[in-house]
Amino acid sequence: QTIGEFFDAMASRFPDNEALVSCHQQIRYTYRQLQEESNRLASALLETGLRPGDRIGIWSHNNAQWLLTQIATAKAGLILVNINPAYRLAELEYALNKVGCKSLITMTTFKTSNYIEMVQAIAPELASSKPGALNAAKVPALKTVIQLGDDHVAGMLRFADLMAMGNPEDARLPDIAKKLDNTDPINIQFTSGTTGFPKGATLTHRNVLNNGFFIGEAMRLTPQDRLCIPVPLYHCFGMVLGNLACLTHGSTIVYPNEAFDPLSVLQAVQQERCTGLHGVPTMFIAELDHPRFKEFDLSTLRTGIMAGSPCPIEVMKRVVSDMNMREVTIAYGMTETSPVSCQSTVDTPLEKRVSTVGLTQPHLEVKIVNPDTGETVPVGTSGELCTRGYSVMHGYWEDPQKTAEAIDAEGWMHTGDLAVMDAEGYVNISGRIKDMVIRGGENIYPREIEEFLYRHPAVQDVQVVGVPDKKYGEELCAWIILRAGAELDEDGVREFCRGQIAHYKVPRYIRFVTAFPMTVTGKVQKFRMREQMKEELK
Ligand code: ATP
Ligand code: MG
Repeated sequence: QTIGEFFDAMASRFPDNEALVSCHQQIRYTYRQLQEESNRLASALLETGLRPGDRIGIWSHNNAQWLLTQIATAKAGLILVNINPAYRLAELEYALNKVGCKSLITMTTFKTSNYIEMVQAIAPELASSKPGALNAAKVPALKTVIQLGDDHVAGMLRFADLMAMGNPEDARLPDIAKKLDNTDPINIQFTSGTTGFPKGATLTHRNVLNNGFFIGEAMRLTPQDRLCIPVPLYHCFGMVLGNLACLTHGSTIVYPNEAFDPLSVLQAVQQERCTGLHGVPTMFIAELDHPRFKEFDLSTLRTGIMAGSPCPIEVMKRVVSDMNMREVTIAYGMTETSPVSCQSTVDTPLEKRVSTVGLTQPHLEVKIVNPDTGETVPVGTSGELCTRGYSVMHGYWEDPQKTAEAIDAEGWMHTGDLAVMDAEGYVNISGRIKDMVIRGGENIYPREIEEFLYRHPAVQDVQVVGVPDKKYGEELCAWIILRAGAELDEDGVREFCRGQIAHYKVPRYIRFVTAFPMTVTGKVQKFRMREQMKEELK
């Protein structure tokens, strides 16, 4: 099925169930209302001249309009291009041109960023052009800019005015639905940019709809569930693990705020009686460590997913005990695989659930290979994780060379992640091949050192990278964020390591910091840490 078909079926089964609560906007939609509004938007987008196969960008934090756009574009056969709200001018221009966006939906302002001004800067003619008829030199394909604010901006279409152009009963919609195939692309998602420049992965209905469905199955979602989604929608975590997992199960989507902040998550879970909560590890850490954490009643929580980067076992344990998320699972995946390949289920024993990324998802294959020879390695041996099946992307947008480097002739996606599979099929991710440190011939997995240092009571968060060294090739460097009020110095860290881990695994360099360089998805950009250390150690 296509996303539109599946969603319509759910809307007729659960018309009066709540589909969306957007806390910061105070918007609530039932499934019936969400269906009507997304049909209206699909019709309005056709009115602006967009046709199936056209690309439309969305450059925005989380809000109700984002969800409407996700469903409406799928119904109108448009390809939605998720653009990271942290992108600035040059990156926006790159993304829009890379995929030839004809339209762009944007917010007005966020904190100190003025999104409208940034669009006007790449499209100087905008201010003088007629509403909806933009003709800009730097982004030649771009014809329409839709803005989410209330003010009239010359040359831009207000989202509210766009909606007024649409007709939920538009006869073109069933026609388009008949012609759509589930292997048609519906989405271009940029990867997080954790290891360098983001790549645009082209995904189909079949890719993301199935993935969202099986994620929801593993979480045992029902129409009674209410899932709090503080992770960004522009990323597959929000869009698939959040939106699609809920919509394929008649569950309720709850957006606590437009961008992550721990307090609004705690408030939303309590007020909306959420049964599930998603997050990357750094988000859960921030919630657990919030000074007002104990004031909130989180007893309705049952499930949720921690994913996106290595999940410290200690954090998982606290999520289970202090947040009551007894069915929390870790999922593993990447944008290029829609995204989830491995996930534990409720039947997975707790100890395994917190220490592995679970089993291969239904209808997918996973194998671990020697990255040099491509041979499958024996059980219990580390190698590169490869995956194959319905979830593997169509390809990087108009980049056959990069696509061929990632997906081999037999359809296996090479992830660049190091993993070990045990005899029962449980997978453990040991980190990225690129992040592995080789010190004096010894392979060191930063993850292992991070897990160890994390056990120190003064340590709130820790990241370990390799930095170049004349004598050993590489040396370990740990960046540590201390808990509020806690004290620890370099000697204290070394003392803690002594006798507990091999001498060559004790970080040579230790830095106390207040933050790590991060992507908006909450992932630590180790390449930036390495760059900074290289500069410092020059
Ligand atoms: P880029 O490809 O642009 O460098 P990225 O790989 O971080 O960025 P994503 O597609 O968002 O972009 O993330 C996928 C990666 O995240 C995986 O390849 C893996 O390294 C990491 N990851 C995801 N889930 C987990 C997990 N549960 N445990 C450890 N690592 C994970
Ligand atoms: Mg990647």
